Amino acid sequence: MPNSSSHVDEARVVDDVPTGLFIGGEWRAAASGATLNVDDPATGKTLCEVSNAGPEDGMAALAAAVEAQAAFAAMAPRDRGEILRRAYETIMARIDDLALLMTLEMGKPIAESKGEITYAAEFFRWFAEEAVRIDGGYAVAPNGASRFLVQKQPVGVCLLITPWNFPMAMGTRKIGPAIAAGCAMVVKPAQQTPLSMHALAAILDEVGLPKGVLNIVTTADAGGVMEPLIRDGRARKLSFTGSTAVGKKLLEQASEKVLRTSMELGGNAPFLVFDDADLDKAVEGAMLAKMRNMGEACTAANRFLVQRGIADAFAAKIAERMGALVVGRGTDDGVQVGPLVDAKGRDKVVELVRDAVDKGATVKVGADPVDGPGYFYRPTVLTDVPLGARLTHEEIFGPVAAITVFDEEDQGVAAANDTEFGLVSYLFTENITRALRVSERLEAGMIGLNTGLVSNPAAPFGGIKESGLGREGGSVGIEEFLETKYVAIGFGG
Ligand code: NAP
Repeated sequence: MPNSSSHVDEARVVDDVPTGLFIGGEWRAAASGATLNVDDPATGKTLCEVSNAGPEDGMAALAAAVEAQAAFAAMAPRDRGEILRRAYETIMARIDDLALLMTLEMGKPIAESKGEITYAAEFFRWFAEEAVRIDGGYAVAPNGASRFLVQKQPVGVCLLITPWNFPMAMGTRKIGPAIAAGCAMVVKPAQQTPLSMHALAAILDEVGLPKGVLNIVTTADAGGVMEPLIRDGRARKLSFTGSTAVGKKLLEQASEKVLRTSMELGGNAPFLVFDDADLDKAVEGAMLAKMRNMGEACTAANRFLVQRGIADAFAAKIAERMGALVVGRGTDDGVQVGPLVDAKGRDKVVELVRDAVDKGATVKVGADPVDGPGYFYRPTVLTDVPLGARLTHEEIFGPVAAITVFDEEDQGVAAANDTEFGLVSYLFTENITRALRVSERLEAGMIGLNTGLVSNPAAPFGGIKESGLGREGGSVGIEEFLETKYVAIGFGG
């Protein structure tokens, strides 16, 4: 298979990325001199080493953010917006190199990396426009004796923690509104995929973000570096995207100094297909909801719940589509499915599929290992999946479609809601009454109605139940980074 990116290009994009910690506007080595390896999940080979922050570096980053906070809060909103706008334009101008870099460190096919980078940049464009729309209010008290002045102010220094599955977009979704609102920040990217975040920081620096506003601490000791920062109290906001287990731990730490928190946590998305669905539309939506990012997405369809009348046709079509997908290194031409992020992620998928088959599921396609280096898993379709199988309760985070049949609407809705998660639910039906009725009954922060994609920078993204707190994106996204202050104005003579 021809290789669409040359080794020269690959070496160049990796060499171009700063590998230090970004603190106070300077790239520097960790105080200990330690480094960590960034590996290519398609080959298992090391791409480069980056500085590995320790608690001392974390504290230096926090101090730099604290120092930058007041001046940044005072910067004109239009100027903050224009920084974001310039960053958006620079990212889009460099999308080819940034996509190659992302594919190398994370594995997704180049086309998907470009999709993520566009999505990531759009958060900057959106929040560039929101920066100048922060408003307040003025009102007469009901008894007429006083006036209320309501204003919005930046929440202060923020701690932002992001996962490896969308290495740039999960960052811009937080960094964009933080800059728009006037907050300085310390960002901790996932240790497996720090390069996209480093490249983003270099762009923000280049387009004029004041020094100290953005600080990046890449580390192999996430807890050791971040816990003292969370407990310190000078940062006033913690925004986290990652697993529910870690999110719960961070909420407990944040409670000590009562930090504002936003938690974008795990999902277990049901994908409901009713007999009255448009089959082709449902299959298209299913491929998108399942296979975006190789299934390594919090929004990934985890459980396909299909009504009996359409179940066989749906399973046959999905199996055909999944079986035809081209698996390989994300940099190669024509590849549609890259490797999973690491051996642990791949082994978990193997285990979940084995458990489902042991409990009675039927393999329609896939479920066999892929030889060679890298952490590949073949797209898989399972039918007759019993509701007790582990993959109906745990995030699969891989290219496995697990199908369970239901008969009545109530049964389908009950099965969909039978989870502690509540991020997104997908629903396919051509019956408008059912569409609205079931949408209301599904316990999720987001519903994909006849679509397999809900993510959009202009829409409020987030979950209920154990999928999280708060919303990112949309017009509410900036509110997470603002405090409301009310001034009571005496009006007596
Ligand atoms: P994770 O293990 O929770 O890690 C997420 C981030 O938290 C990483 O940067 C990680 O650092 C850091 N971290 C881990 N332990 C920490 C600690 N004790 N203190 C502070 N930071 C800590 O999750 P993941 O496996 O990387 O990401 C996948 C999860 O994210 C899935 O559950 C997925 O559903 C969820 N997710 C949710 C959304 C959403 O918007 N709701 C979006 C994307 C992903 P290291 O990686 O360096 O250990």
